[in-house]
Amino acid sequence: MSTVCAVSTPLAEGGLAVVRISGEQALAAAEKIFVPFGGKKVSEMEGYTCAYGRVTDPADGETVDDAMLTVFRAPHSYTGEDTAEISCHGGVYIAKRILRLCLSAGCEQADRGEFTKRAFLNGKLSLTQAEAVMDMISARGELSLRSARLTREGRLFRRINGVKEKLVTLLGELAAWVDYPEEDLPAVEDGALRAVLSEACGELETLLRDYDCGMVLRSGIDTVIAGKPNVGKSTLMNMLLGYERSIVTEAAGTTRDVIEETVKLGELELKLSDTAGIRETEDRIEKLGVSLAKKRLDECALIIAVFDTSSPLDSEDRELLSYVRGLDKRLIIVLNKSDLGNAVSNDEFEGLRVVGISAKNGEGLEELTAAVSELFGTDTYDADMTIFANERQKRCAESALEKLKAALTAAEQGETLDAVTVMTDAAVSELMELTGERATEAIVDEVFSKFCVGK
Ligand code: GDP
Repeated sequence: MSTVCAVSTPLAEGGLAVVRISGEQALAAAEKIFVPFGGKKVSEMEGYTCAYGRVTDPADGETVDDAMLTVFRAPHSYTGEDTAEISCHGGVYIAKRILRLCLSAGCEQADRGEFTKRAFLNGKLSLTQAEAVMDMISARGELSLRSARLTREGRLFRRINGVKEKLVTLLGELAAWVDYPEEDLPAVEDGALRAVLSEACGELETLLRDYDCGMVLRSGIDTVIAGKPNVGKSTLMNMLLGYERSIVTEAAGTTRDVIEETVKLGELELKLSDTAGIRETEDRIEKLGVSLAKKRLDECALIIAVFDTSSPLDSEDRELLSYVRGLDKRLIIVLNKSDLGNAVSNDEFEGLRVVGISAKNGEGLEELTAAVSELFGTDTYDADMTIFANERQKRCAESALEKLKAALTAAEQGETLDAVTVMTDAAVSELMELTGERATEAIVDEVFSKFCVGK
């Protein structure tokens, strides 16, 4: 395999930048461009040691930067190959200049995720662990980081592998029994067969159930704040943002455009848009706003419908209420302006989750946070839960589950053991694709194409 190099830190000014080289020729290439001050050559350095020295251009001997070089020797490195990492001053030009020196020293530019891909190909990581590396980088909160870290440590792999191994053992017994009936082997007992299959189904079902909760933590919740003009949507948005953003005025109908912001609510991230109301109107521009608002409501994952609790609901409020009731969406009714008294009966919102707030005074945020968290099940989210990192993993698991269910049905209906074997075998293939043990090159390439260069 070639020796590759990349700048592993963002190309921006900062304290430090790291240029990474990995492959058989990594240390030889590093030696051409790095001279340790101590007099030792790079090729003489032991693994896990570093040296302070000069990055020089071998063409003219000119010093480019003074830097630290760390040496990792195969297989004890991230990639499993010989690796050198140069920590230089964090300038965009410096990093690029050192990268060019690496290229002229015989290295190739690394593809996206190539270091992690090599770690996978060299057996340092399973595919699920490699995917978790990306999740750790993109984690934006404690829970998502923790869950990614656990996957990175191999928890998901072990669970999937555990299911797979039991099925493989079962397949072995089935094969022996089918192939050598005359050997007088103990028949695969019917009850035991079904128990193994249904246990495997149960395990996959649990993992799939937890996926939605995990996704919410990772990607945030697409949220719409809806309500007729002047109920306090912009004020609520500002309260959530912690600063002034939307235009808040006394005149009804000021907030016309859809304004999007991301706010952190406890552990969750809401991707908020504040929309125009959905009232019937003849005004052409307003009509456009209304249809856009309806589209947003239809597409979002959470609706926060805001009403002014200080005056009775009017037809426009009722129109919104019946519209959002009709959508099969997670919904929170916010009764705003609680500081002005309460003129709205809770009976209007029977069966719905209602939170009273005063957006102006910043009151009710905790209740709102708790309501959202409860709606999405993240209040009971167990930080130790194992969750799939992405759609790819989820699809493999769903497909495996489908095949296992078919195998179970075949077993229950007393079909031939051949049918059970074929289905179980197909499920095992899916699980091996999930962990990467039997993933095609195309799948592996697809996974790593989502990484950044230098990771
Ligand atoms: P929007 O049209 O729904 O976005 O409503 P705004 O956020 O622009 O608010 C309309 C008016 O209601 C403004 O004068 C706000 O100051 C006022 N308002 C918003 N929330 C509250 C609240 O909780 N209590 C009181 N007393 N006034 C509020």
